[in-house]
Amino acid sequence: MNHQRISPGRTIGVLGSGQLGRMFAIAARRMGYRVHVLSPDDDTPTGQVADVEIRADYADVESVERFASSVDVVTFEFENVPAGAIDAVAKHVPVRPGGHVLHTTQNRLREKSFLQDAGLPVAPFCGIHSLEELQSARRGASAPAVLKTAAWGYDGKGQRRIDPTDDLAQVWNSIQTDEAILEDFIDFERELSVVAARGLDGQIACYDPIENLHANHILDISRSPGDVTPSVAHAAREIAHAVLQKLDVVGVLCVEFFLTRSGDLLINELAPRPHNSGHLTIDAHVTCQFEQQVRAVCGLPLGSTRQLLPAAMVNLLGEQWNDHEPAWHQACATPELKLHLYGKREPRQGRKMGHLTAVADTSRAAQQLVMAAREALGDNTT
Ligand code: AMP
Repeated sequence: MNHQRISPGRTIGVLGSGQLGRMFAIAARRMGYRVHVLSPDDDTPTGQVADVEIRADYADVESVERFASSVDVVTFEFENVPAGAIDAVAKHVPVRPGGHVLHTTQNRLREKSFLQDAGLPVAPFCGIHSLEELQSARRGASAPAVLKTAAWGYDGKGQRRIDPTDDLAQVWNSIQTDEAILEDFIDFERELSVVAARGLDGQIACYDPIENLHANHILDISRSPGDVTPSVAHAAREIAHAVLQKLDVVGVLCVEFFLTRSGDLLINELAPRPHNSGHLTIDAHVTCQFEQQVRAVCGLPLGSTRQLLPAAMVNLLGEQWNDHEPAWHQACATPELKLHLYGKREPRQGRKMGHLTAVADTSRAAQQLVMAAREALGDNTT
């Protein structure tokens, strides 16, 4: 008997309670698992569909230990969980992916250094700890660059593009950190992501690359298959495979790429969990990214990543509400459309409230459907 395997009927603990945890919990419960979630909030997207919702601060070690001792394995949907919480959990049950994966991916400088040391392609970068370091790194520079805080960055938060004429003191003060990363600005042709999973036995399964379009640094549209050649798709999957192996991941991890105009792939970022771009796998693939996470963290064999139909997804942000409830019936009038809402009560600007996915004969046709459906949400006339 494999003691590492967590069979259906047992209980999975989730740290973090947003939409990723919600879609994970839905997949887990479909497969017969029980789900307990811990986060500092209540009535959360994950808590609404979990068996048990625990409200506690991640730094409250006693509550975290009590939570851990009531479950069989713990995973997370939010990578900025403090290391102390992970250590407290690991005293009781396995944490998958392990604390070392969180440690590396919680900090952009550690993450980029790990990738570079592993011989994987990243945009040229350096660490910056003061205005003087920034000034010396930019001395004589004629090309733009991007300055990002090393910790706690997502959806473009804590980052600034720097142009050669910019006032560096103003830029440095604006990001309010003492550890940052300065990267070359990449004039990319496309942005891609590869979602991949690695099981307890080392088996790796990669989805085909998904093509992503951002608006205001937040993911706006994803489509799969992306517009890439078979050789680029193959290279992206190979790189993702290497990342999961070298990082010794057990779980799901997403590799975000820039595809340069000369056809090179550069890794922009890693997310050690299911990813917004992979939401379309729920409606378009044999095994969705959330079921894959359940399988990986529970030590089950991974499922097929085969895509059944071309698909596209658009995010629904808080501004979509715009003082009135969106016209859901208008969007649902498109029969190929799937509505996903996360149960968040307050539609704030930039807050991810839900998404729409459509399937069609091509991913571009699916993109037209989801964009038209999102547009129609504003039409409350019928
Ligand atoms: P991040 O928070 O690092 O995922 O960045 C969010 C978005 O900002 C990316 O998806 C890109 O569209 C853009 N971005 C980030 N870094 C760079 C870069 N070095 N060059 C060009 N665009 C970037």
